[in-house]
Amino acid sequence: MTPHLRDLLAREGPLPLARVLWLASQHYYATREPFGRGGDFVTAPEISQMFGELIGLSLADLWHRAGRSDPLLLVELGPGRGTLMADALRAIGRAAPDFRAAVRLHLVERSERLRAIQKERLEGAVWHDSIATLPTEAPLLLVANEFLDALPIAQFEKLADGWVLRRVTAQGHFDRSVGANLAFIPDTLRNAAPGSVYERNFAAEQLAADLAARIGRQGGAALILDYGYEGPVLGDTLQAIHQGRFADPLATLGEADISAHVDFGAVRMAAGRHALVAGPVAQGEYLQRLGIDQRAETLRRGASIERAAAIEAARVRLTAPAAMGALFKALAIHAPGWPAPAGFSTAGE
Ligand code: SAH
Repeated sequence: MTPHLRDLLAREGPLPLARVLWLASQHYYATREPFGRGGDFVTAPEISQMFGELIGLSLADLWHRAGRSDPLLLVELGPGRGTLMADALRAIGRAAPDFRAAVRLHLVERSERLRAIQKERLEGAVWHDSIATLPTEAPLLLVANEFLDALPIAQFEKLADGWVLRRVTAQGHFDRSVGANLAFIPDTLRNAAPGSVYERNFAAEQLAADLAARIGRQGGAALILDYGYEGPVLGDTLQAIHQGRFADPLATLGEADISAHVDFGAVRMAAGRHALVAGPVAQGEYLQRLGIDQRAETLRRGASIERAAAIEAARVRLTAPAAMGALFKALAIHAPGWPAPAGFSTAGE
């Protein structure tokens, strides 16, 4: 745990897990280089250019089908090293220059360090701390890959005599002395066995609702990609990854990548009150519908044997159920009057 967090918890603790996770993740992204070689984890856009390319082309396709609004806000939440958007823009520039010309690029990123990296790769972007300051006058097409998993979750735990809210102590343990607000726990799970954990990502739910409301008003769509499940279900998914290995989340607060699986059921419900929702679809299925097999074949043609093998390995890693193909999922939010993005329905595509 970082000294700053330990001092804060010693002074004011115990504090709710969500509050502590928020502080820990701000510190982590501001100070660490989590991505790629030597980093803590590898994300889909860092595995292959195909990921960003296919997503970019699917947004261009949607824009064409929805009547080519100009200008159009192209937004990414938490762009990391900027790889997804750089690959998307390159593909768009080639295949859909009219879409490229309409695009105004907006990035939501809190880390100054990562903003500097993004600035080198993504010309002409405007940065925001949150979606609250995004322009309101044009439709938006938004992508968020591995963003929601980084938002802070709350955990509720069932004890022999009822549900409590998990709070964190300066010693890096859970405090279980405060009762839970039962309104946050679905009826179907309330009688769970002692020891059961139920997670709520209030920040992700709020974000999904805000985004959907915006899309409902302004037009457009959002693609949300992440690892997760369709809740409500019980389970403790909080995880910390330090230099490619799992670590104790509370012991490494602020020093390791900390995340939780995304409850796509909760995200769909929150967004569905304000806009249309499609999916979730398993990432493997989704990328195959967008044409990853054909794209890989094109890239392999004329490549060296080593390079062709690397392209094939990346394709398998992104799509195979035992790798990222099933745990990772894609969900789309779209405005009434805008069609669903490609890849979300088997009919008519
Ligand atoms: N999308 C990238 C990076 C994912 S990591 C990829 O797929 O490689 C999460 C990203 O979200 C980082 O850029 C991090 O700095 C940013 N981030 C995390 N929490 C945030 C928040 N609350 N507000 C804005 N950006 C945040």
